[in-house]
Amino acid sequence: MAEYKIIKIIKETKDTKTFRLKPVKGKVFDFKPGHFVVLSAELMVNGSPQHIKRAYSISSTPNNRSDNEYLDLTIKELPNGLMSKHVMTLKVGNTMGIAGPYGNFVYEDTMKDVVFISGGYAQMPFHSMINYIFENKLDVKPGVKITKIISARTPEDVVFKDKFIELTKTHKNFRFFITYTRVDKNPEFGLIGRLNAEKLKKILKDVKKKNYFACGSSDFLDAIKKIIIELGVDAKKIKTQGY
Ligand SMILES: Cc1cc2nc3c(=O)[nH]c(=O)nc-3n(C[C@H](O)[C@H](O)[C@H](O)COP(=O)(O)OP(=O)(O)OC[C@H]3O[C@@H](n4cnc5c(N)ncnc54)[C@H](O)[C@@H]3O)c2cc1C
Repeated sequence: MAEYKIIKIIKETKDTKTFRLKPVKGKVFDFKPGHFVVLSAELMVNGSPQHIKRAYSISSTPNNRSDNEYLDLTIKELPNGLMSKHVMTLKVGNTMGIAGPYGNFVYEDTMKDVVFISGGYAQMPFHSMINYIFENKLDVKPGVKITKIISARTPEDVVFKDKFIELTKTHKNFRFFITYTRVDKNPEFGLIGRLNAEKLKKILKDVKKKNYFACGSSDFLDAIKKIIIELGVDAKKIKTQGY
């Protein structure tokens, strides 16, 4: 485990913040877009100190490692959540214990026609992957198409919404959609209700050709995987990460 200092805190939504972290000693480890780290802290639980560990996706890209050494973690405060409530009390200059990188939920440079699907706030690995693709100009390679789909309760629940919308304006191979399950109107995207086979077919058209990444709660992932497989996609083309 290494110690990282908070060098910046960015408020993303009413309950979500990005913590920009720099190693106290040495450099940020090598990582791929989609990797996660394990954050450790000594917290009081029912009156006694306990060593608590939680996983967090790296939301920044590996590209800044050579010049401005940092990584970002974007964390949503959960009601009564031990670690997520604790980090919200931290300030610039405080430190965090971090181990990593971990996971197989990673974007590889050779991937072409990809769909990134998230349930609720689980945008963090995709923020890293999508920015990585654009920063490295991988989207201009022949056959590369990026589709990002979010299913969220309300617009307020979507982390990085405006950033993804901005990216659609400058990257013609990037398409972005949100469906909302707890509001009646969605003027920006026109989609209301849960993500289902009909919505996916309408958005994606050539469903079988694509590679899928899905991130969210285990219930969301079970439902999405079932829908995609029923649409005829080979299960090997679907990567999932549960939050
Ligand atoms: C690979 C991976 C990557 C992840 N990346 C991110 C990320 O980038 N950003 C992010 O915000 N999260 C991420 N998560 C989720 C994160 O790891 C934590 O699970 C999350 O922050 C909640 O941790 P916590 O300690 O705050 O909450 P916990 O204390 O673990 O509690 C979780 C929820 O359960 C409820 N709860 C706790 N105990 C009980 C009980 N006894 N009865 C009923 N309810 C209870 C709490 O109220 C809370 O809402 C990731 C998870 C994984 C597995």
